Amino acid sequence: MIHRIDALILGAGAAGLMCAIEAGKRGRRVAVLERAQRPGKKILISGGGRCNFTNLHCGPENFLSSNPHFAKSALARYTPADFVVLVERHRIPYHEKTLGQLFCDRSAGDILSMLEAECRAAGAEIFLNEKIQEVTRTTEFVVRCASAEFHAPALVVATGGLSIPKIGATSFGYDLARQFGLKIVEPWPGLVPLVLDSADRSRYCDLAGVSAEVIASCNGAQFREKMLITHRGLSGPAILQISSYWKKSLPIHVDLAPDQDVSAIFRDPKTPRTESVLRAELRRFLPARLADRWLDLHAPLSWTNPALADFERQIHEWSPVPAGTEGLEKAEVTAGGVDTGELSAKTMESRKVPGLYFIGEVVDVTGQLGGFNFQWAWASGAAAGRAL
Ligand SMILES: Cc1cc2nc3c(=O)[nH]c(=O)nc-3n(C[C@H](O)[C@H](O)[C@H](O)COP(=O)(O)OP(=O)(O)OC[C@H]3O[C@@H](n4cnc5c(N)ncnc54)[C@H](O)[C@@H]3O)c2cc1C
Repeated sequence: MIHRIDALILGAGAAGLMCAIEAGKRGRRVAVLERAQRPGKKILISGGGRCNFTNLHCGPENFLSSNPHFAKSALARYTPADFVVLVERHRIPYHEKTLGQLFCDRSAGDILSMLEAECRAAGAEIFLNEKIQEVTRTTEFVVRCASAEFHAPALVVATGGLSIPKIGATSFGYDLARQFGLKIVEPWPGLVPLVLDSADRSRYCDLAGVSAEVIASCNGAQFREKMLITHRGLSGPAILQISSYWKKSLPIHVDLAPDQDVSAIFRDPKTPRTESVLRAELRRFLPARLADRWLDLHAPLSWTNPALADFERQIHEWSPVPAGTEGLEKAEVTAGGVDTGELSAKTMESRKVPGLYFIGEVVDVTGQLGGFNFQWAWASGAAAGRAL
């Protein structure tokens, strides 16, 4: 069976569904091919099941890309407010959790149901369980699946990144980009827990579950949020954020007691300079188990002012060199992807191959934690959908 349509979208995730809605609304005959048995699986597991669907304070500075300017145009033309209008029109209850992050009150299923309803209203058809066997281009694109063939003058690749392969992530988008001669920025796991080297693991990892507010920085990026010690290393929002910027063999820098002067108490000449005073003081700023461990491992070499200053400096400049990350199996996003130099920032269309578009996570634009990745999916999906 042959389907002839105006635009074919590969991948019924966040970006693909938004693209289908926008193109369908403009009267285009659109089909979406999805490999899984249902659309939007990642939407359903996102935000701990509540989908952090956007961030009110979204700007280009919240994204990582080889070209930091690339995302500006799409983000400006489809804003968090535009998505909120849609959410409110569907009467989906939501709340701001923190730092502009908007979550569903009930469940992520509300967002997926909304997108599916919008697709139906726009006349976009979703084909599930489609295993794509071949993509070719003659005068138009031809996509061959097991049971049908789809012909369209425009092909949109919205197949996402490599993270969480167990729910169906594939390298399809990158492979297709290579097939058509487009450059790829080598993908790497982002928003992922870091693994400490064996020495640091034996020093800290029995404290798994302990968390503290820290400032984590690496490669010019800096985040003040919670850090969590895990059985193999470090996680929590501060570490997930910094992981996207981390490169192998670089240290990360962690200020364990931001804005605090832990040894200030010793400036008072009446305070006895003893370990028990320092321990009590440190416990005011750090969780008790972490405070005790830190002191056991980094006790001041003496009670002189320079030794105390050195102790203070170390608390604010813990610089472990992680052995690696927990990898794509645990990463919330895949950084890198289709080189933005290959695409129009306005429409997401390939400069080399007219009619071929890439949107969402498969593109070398990666959001920070906090609803930015979905906002990129909506914005890039809308940019392409309006150009089809
Ligand atoms: C656990 C987890 C929680 C997250 N929480 C949040 C959050 O709260 N807020 C936020 O902003 N971001 C979150 N993210 C990131 C966000 O989910 C992604 O950035 C976003 O879904 C990317 O959208 P996309 O449409 O590009 O890709 P995806 O949503 O991954 O969609 C790609 C689709 O393409 C399909 N596909 C793949 N290969 C093929 C193929 N060969 N043929 C046909 N179809 C194919 C897939 O099955 C999938 O349906 C989370 C990610 C994870 C893993």
